[in-house]
Amino acid sequence: TPLIKKQAPIPVAMYGGRNAVTMLPGGGIGPELMEYVREVFKYAGAPVDFEVIDIDPMEESSGAFEYAITSIKRNGVAIKGNIETKSETAGSTSRNVALRNELDLFINILHCKSFPNVPARQKDIDVVIIRQNTEGEYAMLEHESVDGVVESMKVVTETNSDRVARYAFEFAKNTGRKKITTIHKANIMKLSDGLFLETSKKIAKLYPEVEHNDMIIDNCCMQLVSKPHQFDVMIMTNLYGSIVSNVVCGLIGGAGILSGRNYGDHYAVFEPGTRNTGTAIAGKNVANPLAMLNASVDMLNHLGHKRHADLIQRAIYKTVSEDQILTPDLGGSAKSTDVVQRVIDHILQADMRPW
Ligand code: ATP
Repeated sequence: TPLIKKQAPIPVAMYGGRNAVTMLPGGGIGPELMEYVREVFKYAGAPVDFEVIDIDPMEESSGAFEYAITSIKRNGVAIKGNIETKSETAGSTSRNVALRNELDLFINILHCKSFPNVPARQKDIDVVIIRQNTEGEYAMLEHESVDGVVESMKVVTETNSDRVARYAFEFAKNTGRKKITTIHKANIMKLSDGLFLETSKKIAKLYPEVEHNDMIIDNCCMQLVSKPHQFDVMIMTNLYGSIVSNVVCGLIGGAGILSGRNYGDHYAVFEPGTRNTGTAIAGKNVANPLAMLNASVDMLNHLGHKRHADLIQRAIYKTVSEDQILTPDLGGSAKSTDVVQRVIDHILQADMRPW
């Protein structure tokens, strides 16, 4: 019997050879970064039409969020910035979390790979973080039981732990990765993290060709900072995933570089890896456009437009690692638009344009 349960194919909208993709710019630097993506796609000739939906952070009842969910269900694919939740009404919850739950995007993948020649605290990192994306500490089940006492539930299910572990081992097998480390705190949270750890150990037995070990989250953070090259693929619950992703991004060059992918059985959503809003730097032409451009490359690969994806990826590589056109977060003095312009120049010069 197959190890992976047969999954329904992800439906992808396609009209006249072009894909329709939902675009949720979100707040802060989201809208300007999306503008760069559209500009780069125009010059690369990427066959994608965006259905842009703005979600007002102050207005919870406008219907825009529900429209966004419907649109992603229709198109199958989305690219997004961080949606702010500013309303302080009781019970208002993060719509980023709600969106992932609603679409059952149970996996988040962050491929943390160093860019050559970018100033960073650690070099030559190549780690894949696979994170449970819909439960754990993000179950959003918090309440004040009596005055001054708040309880918050962390939910771990065998079903989702199983899905994450199987996904990770299949991923390792298919991409030639050698080792998976389960990150946990099962010494303290014996039931919840215990279940996540035990499930991954059980699945590991089905994949003898992939080495498996485990590490406590505290030690993991220390090891990542001091000896990150020992890691290959890591799996973990939701909140640890957020923290560890930020640690590794910090080692590689910050929040502005890497992209993250969210997958379920049916839908795929692409976004900057650390999911920042960047309110303080919005509108100043200083935000690093790379994380969102890398998310757009991931999206093109997912849609099967590999030549367009390669074209943009190579143009990014040349701009960053060869020409060293870097925004201030990477120690450079280039404007966001300088980086985008150079990426477009490389696309126009490339003799491997798809037409
Ligand atoms: P918020 O926007 O939620 O009020 P913030 O702007 O202080 O908070 P985050 O959005 O969480 O912080 O981002 C964390 C840090 O990463 C900030 O210093 C932000 O400027 C930086 N950052 C995030 N995205 C980028 C980017 N694309 N380019 C450069 N710096 C970035």
